[in-house]
Amino acid sequence: MFISIVELHDSIPLWFWAIWFFILGSCIGSFLNVVIYRLPRGGSVNTPARSYCPSCNTTIAWYDNLPLVSFLALGGRCRSCGVRISWQYPLVELATGLLFVGALLYFGLTLQCVLNCAFGAALVALIVTDFNEQILPDAITLPGTALAIAARMVDHNLVGLPWMNLFFEGLVGRPLPMTGLTGSLINVTLGMAIGAGTLWVLGVGYFRLRAFPIRTLEDLTDFLKRRCVVGTLARLKVRRANGKRGAVYILGGDFSTLSPEELAEAEFASSDTGSPELSMTALDGVQVEVGERGVRITSLPDDLESTVDGRLEAGDTIVSGNLEGMGLGDVKMMLFVGAFLGGGMTFFVLLVASLMGVLVALPRLVARGQAALQYAMPFGVMLGIASLVALFFGEKGLTAYLDFISSLIS
Ligand SMILES: [Zn+2]
Repeated sequence: MFISIVELHDSIPLWFWAIWFFILGSCIGSFLNVVIYRLPRGGSVNTPARSYCPSCNTTIAWYDNLPLVSFLALGGRCRSCGVRISWQYPLVELATGLLFVGALLYFGLTLQCVLNCAFGAALVALIVTDFNEQILPDAITLPGTALAIAARMVDHNLVGLPWMNLFFEGLVGRPLPMTGLTGSLINVTLGMAIGAGTLWVLGVGYFRLRAFPIRTLEDLTDFLKRRCVVGTLARLKVRRANGKRGAVYILGGDFSTLSPEELAEAEFASSDTGSPELSMTALDGVQVEVGERGVRITSLPDDLESTVDGRLEAGDTIVSGNLEGMGLGDVKMMLFVGAFLGGGMTFFVLLVASLMGVLVALPRLVARGQAALQYAMPFGVMLGIASLVALFFGEKGLTAYLDFISSLIS
């Protein structure tokens, strides 16, 4: 059921709305560019209020900040310093504009369309940020989850769940109430549980599986410089001087190969996750020796002790290192996606994203062997694209998939 926002829309031609949706979408895209640039750098979205050139810091005049138009008018260069403006800016504006027009044409001028546009815009920001920085900011996913739940209390227009109804009917003897507020809230809860739960279990499993024992100095150097590449979160298991076990988190990356800009970003990321961790550059000053069970730390530089919040101490023995394939960012993203799309579509998102993951990983695996899998895969990018696919084609896709499965069974 579509809820008409504007009764007038029957008398105004669709192309008129389409033009306005494109302009609105590209303006939102322009705002998303600010979010994408500032959030991973710890900046605020509203201060400074005006956009500035990241190269020369000049405040950008309003006429140079029009979505798409200004990029073309300026020939893709900053008016004041002439530095090239990234193609990402017009691309995000164009993509968001087209997304809004697509939603209008697909869902009509309805509340559902407006909510889907907002959801799609948040996904664009998550996809590009994860692609650039391998970060899925809490500032998007957590308020997004709250807003998605609120949206589903107002609009119960979630996609039907025939297979889930059958599943629960088999389990509890009667179908789930899949209509109205109750149905919407059940669906939201299932979506969050399926989405975040699956990612959490996968992440923990991956984390546990990939332990690299550290016995010699070469093991430690190999783990730090080769295994934990940029973008991965690694956990060092340590044994304290008093025999207790502990863990220290570090952000992976052989920083010696990075440019100063990339280095600044990497160090920023390492101090923003809330867990005790240090950057690879900080580890450089650590003095170590080979102990009985692993590599023992004999002394730490003074500044390092403050960096790791006293978690890593002289006398600790590093026993092994783990790589975390997926950060908790993916789990929180699926909390958001699950709340908005509901259980059935979340299942579809996981299915499509996994297929994309295999398609991306396989050629690498064939070309470069198992070592290629050490590289962090921005799974948030795939989850985001899969969520957009689900938004538009999920219902048909899921039905086709279930028909295929049932044709295999019968
Ligand atoms: Zn400039």
